[in-house]
Amino acid sequence: MNEIKYPFLDLATVNQRYAAAMHDAAVHVIDSGRYIGGETVISFERQMAEMVGAPFCVGVSNGLDALRLILLAWQELGRLHKGDGIIIPANTYIASVLAAVQAGLRPVLVDPDPLTHNLTAETIERACDADNSIKAVMPVHLYGRVVWDRNIAAAVMRRNLLAVEDAAQAIGAIAVSPGLFDSRKAGALGHAAAFSFYPTKNIGAVGDAGGVVTHSKELADAVRALANYGSDTRYHNIYCGLNCRLDPIQAAMLSVKLPDTQGANARRFERAVAYNNVISHPLVIKPLISPQVTDSVWHQYVIRVTGGRRDDMRRYLAAQGVATDIHYPVPPHLQPCFKTLVHGPLPVTEQLAAEVLSLPISDCTTVADAAAIARILNRFPISQHL
Ligand SMILES: *Cc1c(COP(=O)(O)O)cnc(C)c1O
Repeated sequence: MNEIKYPFLDLATVNQRYAAAMHDAAVHVIDSGRYIGGETVISFERQMAEMVGAPFCVGVSNGLDALRLILLAWQELGRLHKGDGIIIPANTYIASVLAAVQAGLRPVLVDPDPLTHNLTAETIERACDADNSIKAVMPVHLYGRVVWDRNIAAAVMRRNLLAVEDAAQAIGAIAVSPGLFDSRKAGALGHAAAFSFYPTKNIGAVGDAGGVVTHSKELADAVRALANYGSDTRYHNIYCGLNCRLDPIQAAMLSVKLPDTQGANARRFERAVAYNNVISHPLVIKPLISPQVTDSVWHQYVIRVTGGRRDDMRRYLAAQGVATDIHYPVPPHLQPCFKTLVHGPLPVTEQLAAEVLSLPISDCTTVADAAAIARILNRFPISQHL
């Protein structure tokens, strides 16, 4: 095996710039003697809500639980019922679909737009025409690209849907929608949003962590209670709840990193621009970079390799010392756990799964590295016979 010259991601390197402050913050939590809830968690929640631009944030255990708690809370509040349909883009990470199933809802998987990899208003409308049990939609800001515009907002309104954003990959991404609003961050677009602070996300904890963000106090209160055994006040349980709280130690780590969200996203953007400027290969489709630079926070930089050559490209890059990844090689509807899940044909999702390839884009990769990787990629032989 060749030496890896360009690693895909090394979290210790990513956290180097924060490490001293993280050490201090960890010591502070240890010395405080407060290991569940308390001021550290509350202060992180305030910081996060303010960053996203919504009034409420509830820190929770992880992104999957954030999604699940929102969907369960809406049921406790009588807004959703078991068996209701929820539209989910079929090319998402499996956690989106697991959350729906575990909350007793019925995932209605739809193909994404192959250019943005995201949901469109037309697919929402078409799904609702075909199925009047659909009561919710989960826009997933995949790879960090915001999916929200006036058409989606209009479809959500017209169909009276609840919109839960899966913002796990999109912290800090900004949607600009003239006529609807000037600019708003991912997480403040729908009725509620789930964030993940899994270590590899743009802002990652040193373990599992997540957050629910919403404009609704009623929903925030229900999520907070559900995440704490269903308890609204001490020893008073209004729901059969779960234990999905955010640890203070993770909240403390996140409070160190959150102020750098814009900076971290800007560094990713620089790398994406370097890739897009240099990559030029007849088999490769580059991701969109819109003039509205803020609409993606480049959680992943994902190209498509056409002609059935994705795996060849991946091997070629590995042989040149470039580590890559695939997000995601097997879509949820083809996973063994969803053998019995009912869905229509999903040709776009299956094609994307066979073509997508993620190039390194974290702080481990310099802008010069990105340009060098792009030049290596450009030399990939078109002929099958390597
Ligand atoms: C990471 C991720 C999740 C799940 O978050 P966890 O914190 O790992 O549970 C959900 N949806 C998407 C799109 C993700 O990328």
